[in-house]
Amino acid sequence: MSKVMIIGAGGVGRVVTYKCAQQPKVFSEILLASRTQSKCDVIAADVRRDTGHEKISTARVDADMVPELVQLINAFQPAMVINVALPYQDLTIMDACLETGVHYLDTANYEPKEVAKFEYSWQWAYQDRFREKGLLAVLGCGFDPGVTGVFTARAAKHFFDEIHYLDIIDANAGDHGKAFATNFNPEINIREITQKGRYYENGQWVETEPHEISKMINYPDIGPKKSYLIYHEELESLVKNYPSIKRARFWMTFGDEYLTHLRVIQNIGMAGIEPVKYKGMDVIPLEFLKAVLPDPGELGENYTGQTSIGCRISGIKDGKPRTYYIWNNCSHQAAYRETGAQGVSFTTGVPAALGARMMLTGQWAGKGVFNVEELNPDPFLDELGPMGLPWHEQVDIDLEMD
Ligand code: NDP
Repeated sequence: MSKVMIIGAGGVGRVVTYKCAQQPKVFSEILLASRTQSKCDVIAADVRRDTGHEKISTARVDADMVPELVQLINAFQPAMVINVALPYQDLTIMDACLETGVHYLDTANYEPKEVAKFEYSWQWAYQDRFREKGLLAVLGCGFDPGVTGVFTARAAKHFFDEIHYLDIIDANAGDHGKAFATNFNPEINIREITQKGRYYENGQWVETEPHEISKMINYPDIGPKKSYLIYHEELESLVKNYPSIKRARFWMTFGDEYLTHLRVIQNIGMAGIEPVKYKGMDVIPLEFLKAVLPDPGELGENYTGQTSIGCRISGIKDGKPRTYYIWNNCSHQAAYRETGAQGVSFTTGVPAALGARMMLTGQWAGKGVFNVEELNPDPFLDELGPMGLPWHEQVDIDLEMD
């Protein structure tokens, strides 16, 4: 029986609130707080109606402001905070957790607003402070990062003595019927996919031009999809935590239409994060673009198709070569029917709520800052299917990854 505070009332916050409310024995009281309280109120009303959980309250908070956060946390006294606002707020929320003595979990690594830079250094720097306070911070507990790290931990624990090659493959074979839309916060999403590609090989990071490397990958129940090598944040922690890895890459599918729009957006300067003067005001092009693009939270209703995300791994077991593939497919429609959110929000929100449950029930315990692969994968994966994301695995197959 614990109180939980969820920060961020977007698509992911909606799913996290549903999934916590479906487990009233663990999450006995829920506070959903965000910059716009009316968005929290809409979600809370839906969740109360569909789950019957009565102890859901809402609040307004500016999570960039540590004193505001501290005040709210002290007033509500949660056991932990689930941060599903934006990556810009990670450090202020971690500061507030330290000050008030509550545990912390998020789904995306900190990014400074002025530079699109994805690395864990800022959050890993909190290690000693969380350890000294006896608090647990779990970083990157969505799907990718998140479940992909837990999948890799399962592979390392049960199937390999040494992991040598890791390919994380992420397909969204959904159709939302819009000419161009992003599946989660457009600002964060466009910053992520317009940066240079990067992968890890033989102890070094190899940089590529954006979308320079692509290959056709066969996804279960979906078929072949053109997939592009991009940099993704879990690669950084996985190569650190599994030093036997010789090469680690991340692949994501993009349609031709999507890439054409993206190219135009970049070429005309709308992906810029430097302010420009417009009618005497400072306007950040990418923030303005977010305001005119479809709200990812509204895509669900007409979204068809499914996502497929997994890890293809090869290495050595008992002196012999071994291959392993572990994945989940998620239907956008099923996600929408259950929570009113599309599949990408669902695949992020379910692991965040499950990670919180692992922490509150003591199945994930520790003092300090942890990436998910450092925690026991078994109890998490036992519950992932029942919570809505069933997974599958195959051993000693052709991974089709050169
Ligand atoms: P949305 O943009 O839909 O929602 C973000 C919410 O955070 C909004 O409700 C917003 O409030 C709120 N917010 C923003 N700034 C502040 C602030 N200063 N104080 C309080 N609240 C604030 O994003 P998503 O729900 O799509 O994504 C949420 C998080 O999940 C992001 O960090 C994203 O990177 C991460 N993510 C992780 C994935 C994974 O697999 N690991 C995949 C997809 C997303 P308002 O509406 O009022 O602006």
